[in-house]
Amino acid sequence: MLECSSYRARAANPLRMNPDLEKLVRLHHAEADLKRVEAELAEIPRKKSALEETLARDRSRLDAARAALDGSQKARKQHEAQVQDLEGKRSKYKGQLMDVKTNKEYTAMLHEIEGVEREIRLREDQILAEMERGEGLSAEVKAEEEAFKEAEGRSREGGRALDERARELEAERARVAAERDAVAATIAADPLELFQRVARLRGVAVAEARDGMCQVCHLKLRLQMYAEIKHNEEIQQCPACNRILYYVPPPAATAIEP
Ligand SMILES: [Zn+2]
Repeated sequence: MLECSSYRARAANPLRMNPDLEKLVRLHHAEADLKRVEAELAEIPRKKSALEETLARDRSRLDAARAALDGSQKARKQHEAQVQDLEGKRSKYKGQLMDVKTNKEYTAMLHEIEGVEREIRLREDQILAEMERGEGLSAEVKAEEEAFKEAEGRSREGGRALDERARELEAERARVAAERDAVAATIAADPLELFQRVARLRGVAVAEARDGMCQVCHLKLRLQMYAEIKHNEEIQQCPACNRILYYVPPPAATAIEP
């Protein structure tokens, strides 16, 4: 329920109010309720896109982990292909070793073969390193997949809760708007026109007078005026902000009768 609780609580103490003023105060509270409902409703799309942004960030973490694993696997395959090429080269050189004519050529060929074998060992080390890295990256992808699944669940649930809240608020808005229209329909033309004029100028047309002050603009009211406002018998406007002023007497239990 979105109601001005302090007003309602204190208003439980029956107000002896000018009927027009009493209706204007009710209209004021209905409008304030409506504004609150509409403001919360307007926040829902923003909250939903915040949920989507969070999920997109989680997804990009998963994508990055997958890309790193993919990169590692590709690098490993490249090293493996190079090892194959080098092994081919080594076989070819070993074949040629049979055909050399001189010692010098033989030594040179052995030297070539050693070079190729060094390169093979180097690539094999790289393959091992890439395999180790791949294991770590696979674990990371798995962890990110699980985290993303959870994040998706949370996001779905959050979205559902927001949709549910939006439905509640829409119903609330319809109810409060009907209440406001019903009150407005009972108000005579002049006070309603005054209310609308002040509302256009000031946003809020009605203000409570309490502790000798207009509670919206905080103007200190003259004693005589405050005393009159306390009777709620006439429609009076704040001399500074023009808002229609009303007074809520303290609860009966603590009220001291003059
Ligand atoms: Zn004022």
